[in-house]
Amino acid sequence: MDLVLAKNAGFCFGVKRAIDKAFEVLSTGEKKIYSIGSLIHNEQVVNNLKNKGLIELTDEESVKNIKNETVIIRTHGIEKHLYNIIEKNGNNIIDLTCPFVKRIHNIVSEYTDKGYTIIVIGDAAHPEVKGIISYGKDIYVVNSQDDIDKLNIDRDEPVLIVFQTTTNASKAQKLVDILRKFYYNSIVIDTICNTTKERQDEVIDLAKTLDVMLIIGSNSSSNTKKLYEESKRYCDKSYIISSVDDLKKIYLSEKSKVGISAGASTPQYLIEEILKNVRNEF
Ligand code: SF4
Repeated sequence: MDLVLAKNAGFCFGVKRAIDKAFEVLSTGEKKIYSIGSLIHNEQVVNNLKNKGLIELTDEESVKNIKNETVIIRTHGIEKHLYNIIEKNGNNIIDLTCPFVKRIHNIVSEYTDKGYTIIVIGDAAHPEVKGIISYGKDIYVVNSQDDIDKLNIDRDEPVLIVFQTTTNASKAQKLVDILRKFYYNSIVIDTICNTTKERQDEVIDLAKTLDVMLIIGSNSSSNTKKLYEESKRYCDKSYIISSVDDLKKIYLSEKSKVGISAGASTPQYLIEEILKNVRNEF
């Protein structure tokens, strides 16, 4: 069996920074440390953090009740009003929002102040996008031609288009081309993070030449799903693998050429565990 591991697999810089810092803070033994939602989108890592004492707050009411404690802000950021509540309640904030996400918050704030209507290309249900739109006023999310058709923005409005960090670049370009036909007074700031671009490009290259692609990561991780979608376009036998159990459901032959990549929130130990299991099969 030929086995190729993508060069850019596993924790990206934003996730690594957040995980390292979270474990460091938890190791101080401070009584209570909170995070707003999951720190990253990987269940195993999130459970490890919980076992070390991290308490996840999942609704606004619980956030309001936290006062003078330590609160960690997750990699994909939170909504502005939640941040303000945490700050006002005198909490010690450890802001681990990825700088690439923070950059989008700043851009959206700046262009909102300049009077722009803002369009975010991304998934409206994703926490990162919910955070981004909280920094704007006239702000819309589109993820398809249908969403664009429903927009109610004057054609001569100044419009800024930005992207969720994990948006697929070719899909984003198609939507931008459509939007620009409607809004001739629009500008685009590319906010897809480099990590995402590099990983997607590498997966496409591998998927074009290999028989089977295994994308290690969680189904709840946006960038893992995007890697899978890109891979599937070129390699029909593409699978998301979140554990060794998932691997058992896939048929691999001795002659298979197998590629392995992993989402930005996939821990190294899981990649190694899957690699070991694939190697042991043949
Ligand atoms: Fe930051 Fe990109 Fe990693 Fe998201 S995928 S945490 S934006 S580096």
